[in-house]
Amino acid sequence: MARYGMVIDLTKCNGCYNCFLACRDEYCGNEYPGYSAEQPMSGQFWMRVIEKERGKYPKVKLAYIPIPCMHCDDAPCIAVAQNKAVYRRPDGIVIIDPKKSKGQKQIVSSCPYRVIYWNEKEDIPQKCTLCAHLLDDGWKEPRCVELCPTGALVFGDLDDPKSEAAKLLASGNTEALHPEYALKEKVTYIGLPKKFVAGTVIYGDKDECAEGVTVTLSGKGAKKTAKTNFFGDFEFEGLPDEVDYKVKIAAPGYKEQELEAKTKVDVYLGEVVLKKGK
Ligand code: SF4
Ligand code: SF4
Repeated sequence: MARYGMVIDLTKCNGCYNCFLACRDEYCGNEYPGYSAEQPMSGQFWMRVIEKERGKYPKVKLAYIPIPCMHCDDAPCIAVAQNKAVYRRPDGIVIIDPKKSKGQKQIVSSCPYRVIYWNEKEDIPQKCTLCAHLLDDGWKEPRCVELCPTGALVFGDLDDPKSEAAKLLASGNTEALHPEYALKEKVTYIGLPKKFVAGTVIYGDKDECAEGVTVTLSGKGAKKTAKTNFFGDFEFEGLPDEVDYKVKIAAPGYKEQELEAKTKVDVYLGEVVLKKGK
């Protein structure tokens, strides 16, 4: 038996919202008995895409994060449901039974990912089913995965070493959106935004961009180096939160500069002007 899951590679996601639209197309106005009632035309986002802006002018980055149900192995939504209204199928997909869940509003607030929505008209909780009705009909992947133009959504059997999803998992580059919830999520991510430290180096005497200058970042036992590019820019990406870093900038014939950066937020150190001397 397969154990279905998904890896979402944010380095490939361009925020086109096709996944969101595919989900709406599949479920709005369509009922799949035993799997899901109709998704209302507004107010529900079974595949929600959030935009995360990082940094501040002039160094701003935008990341898109698609968020479906994580189909957790340790799912609190299953634990709070009465009458087995939420259950995990043998293939790992977590389903809310559209009939048994009637009136069970407590299921909505049980999910820390906030991916369960309340249908006021039907009096039921609803969420992503990984298109279980299609998979049972022979489909190889959910609609959102099928319509993603960049290959950012990779669906498959996590226990099959030949599946692309299992290979990505085995690469060790995936992580849960919120590992602190500890729910054994079967939807994981590559490229989740972390913190960055960046800056621009200028030769003061020439008033021009300093290309090829060595910049060293050190803190919490780690050390990284980078070279400034043609525009004098440098950047350290993927840094952990809340670390006090020292940033050293050294160019032959110029005084070394040392700055501080704390990754409570993304840091742009601005223009660092190098002065002649030792
Ligand atoms: S993400 Fe939320 S709704 Fe989905 S299985 Fe986990 S706890 Fe349940
Ligand atoms: S369809 Fe693919 S590229 Fe477009 S927003 Fe969804 S995951 Fe990102």
